[in-house]
Amino acid sequence: MIDVYLGLGSNLAEPSLQISRALEALAHLGQTTVLRCSSLYASRPMGPSDQPDYVNAVVHLQTLLTPVSLLAATQKIELQQGRVRKNEQWGPRTLDIDILLYGNEIINLPQLVVPHYGMKVREFVLYPLLEISPNLRLPDGENVTDVIKNCPLNGLCVLSCAPPF
Ligand code: ATP
Ligand code: CA
Ligand code: CA
Ligand code: CA
Repeated sequence: MIDVYLGLGSNLAEPSLQISRALEALAHLGQTTVLRCSSLYASRPMGPSDQPDYVNAVVHLQTLLTPVSLLAATQKIELQQGRVRKNEQWGPRTLDIDILLYGNEIINLPQLVVPHYGMKVREFVLYPLLEISPNLRLPDGENVTDVIKNCPLNGLCVLSCAPPF
């Protein structure tokens, strides 16, 4: 089994509910076991600021799915929860699932780059990640505890405890 960390985000249609539904859908994936979910966090939107704040969480799972199969599965869950793809970058969405880490693998495919390119500078990724895996080391050898020193909270705050799954 490969240890995987996913970043979840939503800012439309009851974001907290979207995150808990996504977590349930992930738990139902075959060849995959959800181990842990962080608390739910409220964060400021990236990009266009005329959109609601986000709810974010990070999920730790173990899977036998390949990276590309996992991407397909997470994109299917996004669509099932009403994600509409628009041209605007970082626009509002019901659900976003990013693959942050897939074991220690470095993946550079046209459709999949892992570790996720933004994870080291995004407070809504690093703080939930630290909460559930304080000893985590990234594939480049850096510890999350060190990376997070360069990442201000930017208004991030805990909303509620992890949903059941
Ligand atoms: P960002 O990637 O900056 O967080 P976003 O999540 O809004 O922005 P999307 O529109 O959800 O971006 O995804 C655009 C494309 O990114 C997807 O179609 C997918 O193929 C690709 N992608 C590349 N690497 C990853 C990854 N690690 N996890 C999820 N999608 C990825
Ligand atoms: Ca399962
Ligand atoms: Ca994203
Ligand atoms: Ca995404």
